[in-house]
Amino acid sequence: MSTRVPLSDGFINGEVSFWYRSSGVPAPRQRLDGPLSADVVIVGAGYTGLWTAYYLKKSAPGLRVVVLEQEFAGFGASGRNGGWLTGDLAGSHELYARSHGTEAAIALQREMFASVDEVIAVCAKEGIDADVVKGGVLTVARNTAQASRLRAHVDEARAWGFGPGDLQLLSAAESQERLRVAGTVQGSWSPHCARIQPAKLALGLAEAVRALGVEIYEGTPVLSIEPKRAVTPYGVVSGDFIIRATEGFTSRLQGLRRQWLPMNSSMIVTEPLPDSFWETVGWQGAELLGDMAHYYMYAQRTADGRIAFGGRGRPYLYGSRVDARGHTHDWTVEALWQLLVDFFPAASSSKVAHAWSGVLGVPRDWCSTVHVDRDTGLGWAGGYTGHGVTTTNLAGRTLRDLVLGEQTALTALPWVGRKVRAWEPEPLRWLGVHSMYRLYRTADARERSMRRTSVLARFADLITGH
Ligand SMILES: Cc1cc2nc3c(=O)[nH]c(=O)nc-3n(C[C@H](O)[C@H](O)[C@H](O)COP(=O)(O)OP(=O)(O)OC[C@H]3O[C@@H](n4cnc5c(N)ncnc54)[C@H](O)[C@@H]3O)c2cc1C
Repeated sequence: MSTRVPLSDGFINGEVSFWYRSSGVPAPRQRLDGPLSADVVIVGAGYTGLWTAYYLKKSAPGLRVVVLEQEFAGFGASGRNGGWLTGDLAGSHELYARSHGTEAAIALQREMFASVDEVIAVCAKEGIDADVVKGGVLTVARNTAQASRLRAHVDEARAWGFGPGDLQLLSAAESQERLRVAGTVQGSWSPHCARIQPAKLALGLAEAVRALGVEIYEGTPVLSIEPKRAVTPYGVVSGDFIIRATEGFTSRLQGLRRQWLPMNSSMIVTEPLPDSFWETVGWQGAELLGDMAHYYMYAQRTADGRIAFGGRGRPYLYGSRVDARGHTHDWTVEALWQLLVDFFPAASSSKVAHAWSGVLGVPRDWCSTVHVDRDTGLGWAGGYTGHGVTTTNLAGRTLRDLVLGEQTALTALPWVGRKVRAWEPEPLRWLGVHSMYRLYRTADARERSMRRTSVLARFADLITGH
């Protein structure tokens, strides 16, 4: 590791994520031990799988619901993310509107806002202590090109009918009043976001689901998903419905290699910062923090007074490979640290306590999908492109309605049953993604002295359909 990154004595790289430091990384619990049959079989015990199991059992307690998980509940992105319980929708409103019209796309966005409160309400009801604080989200622009994009984003929200109660433009001074990020020239604030501790949510949800009578078999990889069957090394599990909830790991399943691109995201966390630091920067409301760079960052102030700071890192591994336990390349740790200190020079006396990475699922058009085919019994939800903490809850409730065969406001939303083309074969996939991020990095550097978005970034958007 470069000497330019100060590391704590107990620094950990990987080991799933920092969020398991206090509880310890769980060992897989009960493994499948022979064939069985159920009404609904869910593959993957991240938020998607767990929310689906939760709402199914709540609505139809008599159903036998089985979850099959290759490692342990919360092993994937659900136990590693930045803890933004955000009302932001993955992908563009236009694409959702294209199939179902403007009103339907607005309804989807409103459901996303409501889902933030739904997650908070379930946490309260089930006694899940996930350090939840609904403090909103602050987005900062740190040069004039970023500021012009931020204003365009707010204008676009207005055109879709979202008012200042949903998203406010802030002057540099107003933004700094909330949180003093070096170099802020403009900001925006939205109330539709809450801070969570991701692993606590995953573990708490798994407990709530088990208490409802759902069987979660851990250490049980699914080798293939077929109509009415999930095949594991320990037996075949049959069911009327087989729901795939494998997000960034989907490319490893037979026949699904090019479905959703496994995109990496990486994080570092500092040691607990002293009161003097928080007096210097503000950040008293547990707001989530993001920026308008193309190679964007995301951060939270943790419940124990650290900064957890994330960004793209090495975006994609050739052949849709995924890392196993979150080990993060030195280059990424250094890049995240440099950016953190650039945002908060007063943090330079701190140290990095932990670094980790995870994978998220990115569809070719960057918009999420939820679907159940009642003939084959196959269903899935995902492609959240880094916006899954809240969307998985909406997915779980929608999958419940689709499995139960109910036509509801949720099943009419425009992300239900979307068909998206597959990613290109290699080496085009690797070349496309790497060119996109190289162009974004160069565009970010050039925009430090430009007034408008760099043409390189527009070109990158074009080649990958972003
Ligand atoms: C570093 C990072 C930061 C992020 N930050 C945010 C954020 O702040 N806000 C936000 O909204 N989103 C964020 N995301 C995205 C968000 O975490 C995900 O969209 C969300 O957790 C997806 O949940 P999931 O259940 O669909 O997938 P996962 O949590 O990945 O769960 C999938 C599960 O399926 C299991 N599995 C996979 N294949 C198999 C198989 N063959 N057999 C059995 N089990 C299998 C995996 O082990 C895993 O447990 C972030 C993601 C990462 C990686």
